[in-house]
Amino acid sequence: MRFVRALNTCAFSLHRRVISKHFLHCSLLKPYIGAHQFSVYGTMAAVADEDSLRRALAQKQSSIDVQGGTVRQLKSSGAAKLDIEAAVQALNALKLEKASIESQLQVALAGAADGGSSSASRDAFRQAVVNTLERRLFYIPSFKIYRGVAGLYDYGPPGCSVKSNVLSFWRQHFVLEENMLEVDCPCVTPEVVLKASGHVEKFTDLMVKDEKTGTCYRADHLLKDFCKEKLEKDFSLSAEKAAELKHILAVLDDLSAEQLGAKIKEYGITAPDTKNPLSDPYPFNLMFQTSIGPSGVSPGYMRPETAQGIFVNFRDLYYYNGNKLPFAAAQIGQAFRNEISPRQGLLRVREFTLAEIEHFVDPQDKSHPKFSDVAKLEFLMFPRDDQVSGQCAKKLQLGEAVSRGTVNNETLGYFIGRVYLFLTRLGIDKDRMRFRQHLANEMAHYAADCWDAEIESSYGWIECVGIADRSAYDLRAHSEKSSVALVAQEKFSEPREVEKLVITPIKKELGLAFKGNQKMVTEALEAMEEKVAMEMKADLESKGEVEFHVCTLGKNVSIKKNMVSISKEIKKEHQRVFTPSVIEPSFGIGRIIYCLYEHSFYTRPSKAGDEQLNVFSFPPLVAPIKCTVFPLVQNQKYEEVAKLLSKSLTAAGISHKIDITGTSIGKRYARTDELGVPFAITVDSTLSVTVRERDSKDQVRVDVEKVASVVREVTDGLSSWADVLKMYPLHSSETAEE
Ligand code: AMP
Repeated sequence: MRFVRALNTCAFSLHRRVISKHFLHCSLLKPYIGAHQFSVYGTMAAVADEDSLRRALAQKQSSIDVQGGTVRQLKSSGAAKLDIEAAVQALNALKLEKASIESQLQVALAGAADGGSSSASRDAFRQAVVNTLERRLFYIPSFKIYRGVAGLYDYGPPGCSVKSNVLSFWRQHFVLEENMLEVDCPCVTPEVVLKASGHVEKFTDLMVKDEKTGTCYRADHLLKDFCKEKLEKDFSLSAEKAAELKHILAVLDDLSAEQLGAKIKEYGITAPDTKNPLSDPYPFNLMFQTSIGPSGVSPGYMRPETAQGIFVNFRDLYYYNGNKLPFAAAQIGQAFRNEISPRQGLLRVREFTLAEIEHFVDPQDKSHPKFSDVAKLEFLMFPRDDQVSGQCAKKLQLGEAVSRGTVNNETLGYFIGRVYLFLTRLGIDKDRMRFRQHLANEMAHYAADCWDAEIESSYGWIECVGIADRSAYDLRAHSEKSSVALVAQEKFSEPREVEKLVITPIKKELGLAFKGNQKMVTEALEAMEEKVAMEMKADLESKGEVEFHVCTLGKNVSIKKNMVSISKEIKKEHQRVFTPSVIEPSFGIGRIIYCLYEHSFYTRPSKAGDEQLNVFSFPPLVAPIKCTVFPLVQNQKYEEVAKLLSKSLTAAGISHKIDITGTSIGKRYARTDELGVPFAITVDSTLSVTVRERDSKDQVRVDVEKVASVVREVTDGLSSWADVLKMYPLHSSETAEE
């Protein structure tokens, strides 16, 4: 869930949403492996390399300055020609040495840049992916014939299939596995709900405006771009300055409006398009406003998240669950955010699909019965202390991270583990994924702990899933605003004696003292927290009178000993009533899908070697179509077998496509590889056919009547391609690949 900027200054805040927010300096230091592959992480040695090269460069420059001075002085003093020539030679040697260090630094930076490649090769890789995605209609810029609208995209046929596969796996992996209660609430939300949640006041990003043209930019993006560009391109940067810029990138989300504005001024950052000066940063609310009904008197908003629909239904869901905790509710639906300057394609859009879980739990018991199922998992984690001290993400065992208190509690840890399994089973590369803990100020003050599942893409590290322990904040906020108690009860088997705070305002005395304000003073006294009440009691006993701030009056009043009685009494209780805590994993489905596209994409040369062919290596689970059926040549007998196969595949529930065009078989393979179809069946006889696996290009021969069940077993994950290879004869074909 969301954020605000002036985090530590506001009374409450939502957590911050930022893409690739932590382009931390270790992410700048990844050695490049290949055009479509990325290494994991840079090392501290790599950091030292870059630093020492910058220092060497600075030293060389000062030697050049000194030697330049010597040459000038020799020339002006009319020194001997030989001496001048020797000094010039020494100067040139120094310049050559400087050039050599510069090129070493260039190599170090290129090898270190985000994603492990130079920005040019990252851009080229991204362009290849995006071109393929758009050409094959995975997605289409919305309203394209009218030149489109920034931040709005349509999913085309294969994109829709991938999305529906991801969502059905999400339902299976979370909703079904945990018996979650799924709901489906409206996108249009009345203002009162989003006022209670804090979105009307705080759901903002900091914006700056071009002072002359009025064009708007996100303030943190401009600062981030400036730092990244300097680090990648400015070789004259001292090691100290480079460290400063890296630190800014690491704590970007922690900066207040004032700090961001000050840095923008200090670095002389101007509007990227015009170089005009920029305004100071100010908050811009990201919600799309509307009104409900024709009168225009009932304001509403397009929901910026699905979570609020679950919170407002808590009471009914709790009842539906037999008044038992813990339980989780889930919702998949559209969310709307009027992003200031959407960029990065599918990653930052103005309407997107969220899949959210609200797991309600007793704040006194956040253990999880199934934690042991995930405790042994090991993956990259990036605790906040490591971020601040400039270290890299490292592999941690989840069980240890929880037992050491790095992750706040078992339930939060359980969901981190389940998210890891979900993403890796979809096909996200485990070495290009990390769980990053929120920095102290980045996290809302009421939150107990927050971790983002970040996936590395050509754009850097992208927050794809936020997993937050939001304590009781949301339910309390809606209880207060709606006056409906959103609470749970724990019934005791035996009544328990508990010490209770009892505050009794003496209305007669308060009425005499405060007249018309009596009600507000009384309510404020009754609402005192235990600590405040006990301090008041002590002060009243020692001094007889205290100053007391009444928020609703906006001033202090003087409370005397005879106006209120405060005591602690032992009472018998049969149950405990409390507001549950909520643990919220929130999945940006579009971001996950885009990262999956990048992680699955590769190219390979055509058989003739004259062309690069694109492949999406989707696991069968997410592939938009599970298999294709091709008659080898256009001939009625083969086409009939193909139609028969199509019928049996449909009956087995396998999405497939028949291609009876006369195009060469190699071209047809290339076309389906580009859609990420894992299996291709080629009909080259009426009794048996070949089944080809996309990535190995291996083919086996299978009897016609068995094909559908073989394909179903591998696509359902009941057997692997290796099993198929063991069971069926390998088919070698000279004709096949282009
Ligand atoms: P948040 O509520 O800000 O934590 O966002 C929840 C999830 O929604 C994030 O982890 C992202 O995956 C996704 N998300 C947030 N903003 C956008 C956006 N503008 N476009 C696409 N996905 C987004």
